[in-house]
Amino acid sequence: MAARILDGKQFSASLREDIARRVSALKEKGVTPGLAVILAGTDPASEIYVRNKGNGCREVGMHSETILLPEDVSQDALEAEIERLNQDRRIHGILVQLPLPKHLNEEAALAKILPEKDVDGFHLLNAGRLMTGAPGVIPCTPRGALYMIQQTGRSLSGLEAVVIGRSNIVGKPMAALLLRENCTVTLCHSRTRNLAEHTRRADILVAAVGKAGFITGDMIKPGAIVIDVGINRVDGKVRGDVDFESAAAVADWITPVPGGVGKMTITMLLQNTLEAAERTV
Ligand code: NDP
Repeated sequence: MAARILDGKQFSASLREDIARRVSALKEKGVTPGLAVILAGTDPASEIYVRNKGNGCREVGMHSETILLPEDVSQDALEAEIERLNQDRRIHGILVQLPLPKHLNEEAALAKILPEKDVDGFHLLNAGRLMTGAPGVIPCTPRGALYMIQQTGRSLSGLEAVVIGRSNIVGKPMAALLLRENCTVTLCHSRTRNLAEHTRRADILVAAVGKAGFITGDMIKPGAIVIDVGINRVDGKVRGDVDFESAAAVADWITPVPGGVGKMTITMLLQNTLEAAERTV
């Protein structure tokens, strides 16, 4: 059986149409949603991500600003920039592009962002809200992944969900979101024993490992929903954490790489920025 594709490009296009409509409605009330992205240094991959975020904003009619800081920027100067954006009424979302240069303290910088402008959802207050079930900003990649899972039309309550990877930006919030949907969640990581025994039980399998082709068809339960978060560059090509061909022969639904979760991440950033602006009127 060939799995059905969860098409991130298609979902993004229709979500962005809706976002653009809501941006127009806000503009009629005198508010243009604005996103500020801070980029410290000249990491080529980060530069591409930041450019794509700006392009996404323009596509839906949002205001966007990119603040370029030198590689050797001090912690104080970075935090002063965040404070300035916290006070700027034209800015509804602030994003600090990660990773920061090694001498900077990421956690301290993220803590400076006003939680209501924290459109990445990385502030400890928003992370805590997600864990306790209170309303808050949800990190973009897991939010996009959950949206894709929901598009299968399956009732998620009671399903076995296995998330591989426990990072603060993907794995942990993904697990919290699936728990909120009443899935029975297993969170796996590099110390997990007999990983395939866990993955073969999964009705929903989310791979966020960072290793190309790590999950193969023999590790997947027939009929599963497989969400591939991985973005790995191999010989100049982008590959996911899932071996697409063997997985698609077993799964019922699968996300491609590229054109899957990655595409949804920026769309969810636009959604989070829009919602932050809507909360101000
Ligand atoms: P991290 O490196 O922070 O986390 C990787 C996780 O995988 C860790 O929890 C690690 O376990 C676990 N892991 C590593 N090796 C194994 C193994 N052999 N078996 C089981 N678990 C293992 O990565 P991120 O969460 O930041 O990113 C994961 C992937 O997703 C990357 O490819 C990244 O590029 C991609 N990504 C994609 C995004 C998108 O928009 N699509 C956004 C963000 C990330 P441990 O904790 O024990 O070390």
